[in-house]
Amino acid sequence: MTIFREKIRQSIADENLQAALDANAERRRKGREAAFASIPDYPERRARAHAIKADVVARLDEYLAQFIANVEKNGILVHRAGDAAEANKIVLDITQYAVRSTGIQVDRYTSTQVDTQHAPRNILIAKSKSMVSEEINLNHALEEHGIRVVETDLGEYIVQLRGERPSHIITPAVHLRRGDVGRLFHEKLGIPYTEDIPTLTNTARRVLRDVFLTADIGVSGVNFGVAETGTLCIVTNEGNGRMVTTLPPVHVALMGIERLVPTLDDLALFLSLLPRSATGQKLSVYTSLIHSPRRGNDPDGPSERHLILLDNGRFAIRHSPLAESLYCIRCGACLNACPVFREIGGHAYGSIYPGPIGSVISCALVDPKFAYLAQASSLCGACREACPVDIDLPGLLLRVRAGHLPVISDQCSVISGEGRGLPSVVKLGLKLYRRVAASPRLFRLVLRTLGLFPLPQWIRLPAWTGWGYSKDFPRLTVRPFRARWKNVKQSIKETGKQLEREQVGKETSRQVERKQVDRETGTAVAQFTKELTALGGQAYLVSEQELPARLTEFLQSKGVERVQADESVAKYITGILAVREPDPTIRAGVTGVLVGIADTGSLVLVGGRGRPLTASLLPEIHVVVLKTSQILPTVADALCRPEVREAAAGVIVTGPSRTADIEMTLTLGVHGPGELHVFLIDDSTSG
Ligand code: SF4
Repeated sequence: MTIFREKIRQSIADENLQAALDANAERRRKGREAAFASIPDYPERRARAHAIKADVVARLDEYLAQFIANVEKNGILVHRAGDAAEANKIVLDITQYAVRSTGIQVDRYTSTQVDTQHAPRNILIAKSKSMVSEEINLNHALEEHGIRVVETDLGEYIVQLRGERPSHIITPAVHLRRGDVGRLFHEKLGIPYTEDIPTLTNTARRVLRDVFLTADIGVSGVNFGVAETGTLCIVTNEGNGRMVTTLPPVHVALMGIERLVPTLDDLALFLSLLPRSATGQKLSVYTSLIHSPRRGNDPDGPSERHLILLDNGRFAIRHSPLAESLYCIRCGACLNACPVFREIGGHAYGSIYPGPIGSVISCALVDPKFAYLAQASSLCGACREACPVDIDLPGLLLRVRAGHLPVISDQCSVISGEGRGLPSVVKLGLKLYRRVAASPRLFRLVLRTLGLFPLPQWIRLPAWTGWGYSKDFPRLTVRPFRARWKNVKQSIKETGKQLEREQVGKETSRQVERKQVDRETGTAVAQFTKELTALGGQAYLVSEQELPARLTEFLQSKGVERVQADESVAKYITGILAVREPDPTIRAGVTGVLVGIADTGSLVLVGGRGRPLTASLLPEIHVVVLKTSQILPTVADALCRPEVREAAAGVIVTGPSRTADIEMTLTLGVHGPGELHVFLIDDSTSG
């Protein structure tokens, strides 16, 4: 606690950090507001998301069994890890196995724990952002065994180069300014000092491209696992998530057991909330949907996929008063909304899960000592208001403060030893308060009695309380709480009745979304074009007859001499060499798509014979051929297509690759293509 206080003081005194945090919070708030404005039914979606997660957590064993059965049926190897040590060991074992099966050369033996014949000395792991891997301290465990791990998300790469851990669950380098990154790249990567963000981003792209192309194993997190199909859904903006799950011969996915949704329809709902809440986007640039390793005719993808399902205290939380914290989808919105986080930043918390949600789960998932973090809250309720799953964060924080902590044991029992670890004077105070607060009559009486003796103005709390140091003591309320509560109760009743009325004849959210699209834009094509353009993509309406000439003219204008193309569009490419195999020197990829999505301006690509997913990933320019009849209204409609669940892997592409990891400044073309061009074949009049 003393160290925590010291860190708070340091953070508040750090002007650089304060400026970075202010800029982040303000931009995130504005982006979020704009993104949610496009879904007027947000309150209903939020309530539905809460109900779905409540159901998942209540029936976790059932959903897990269904999910595991489907993942295994799809050909992915599933491993269960009880705690961090077990999870790390599984990754090491997989690495050893990869050494044997892929013939990677080993230099020398470096550890007493690893099989001497197969010590993975030279192995390179490319990793995309995963909070679970931070939770188990995976990098450290691997590096101890001589394995090189490179973080490939730009923000994560920056903090890794600095020898730090992420300071925010969505924006790992939020605490840094462009000058910090400029100095870092100058020192570590040898480039001349610059504060130019595109130059810094391009440098990272260049360095990390080599890592993607030579990595032996790709490690990723999982945002959602779909129980009914065994789908692993991973969302990223830069394209690094796609790289590490597509290019290396082995892919290892790490997932907390609570990250499940029952169906693809539920996934569509959560995809409408997570990116909006996290980064203010309707959809992240790349939503990967993974089902299996590369199959016989697939042109790309890893030949081996593993899924590690991590408990590490989650089952214990599920049986504790903190169960609601398992509904969290790690969007980071509560961090940005929290006045405490906005003052002190993520590193001051000491846990890899900072902010309001971190103050609840850190004591259960990372270290019980983090129970004190629950004090780092003003209980203003801003976190709950921001949460897209409507988690009662203030309530959970109070439970942690009261000592209702889950205890991890063989039986996953829960100790509700109130006040565990608190000073006895505080325990006594809490005991008295509970006695009084449990009886409305006694509570009223005590309040009235205390009201007879108002505190004189000159009374100040002692300095050690922190009040008056970095925060103002709240003013005494003009209207008593009970009077205000009566009004609130009345308005809750009225809102409840209103909601009941609205529930009558309620349409599914997909129907509502469809109507929104039609009402607002007139046609799905117009909506698609509008959304794509807003994202930085380009659309060109052409007839099928004129497409070959237009496509050739376009590629030549970009100086492209060779393209990587999929089978479905090869017939449109004339006068330019088209190849199927991935080649990092090729500047443009031309692909067809399964469908387009009007609501988000997205394109759905599925891998398979003749359809290399690398064509939409490795080149700097991605050109798409799409028929207007292929455009569907919503993400949920696209996910209904059987091809999505049948493919080994697919992706929803929503604009060019992007990042805002340095000072929240948008830069296009990080790891994936920086340009996205869609040739729309108008087939509205044909048969
Ligand atoms: S608690 Fe809610 S707001 Fe905070 S990260 Fe989780 S889902 Fe987002």
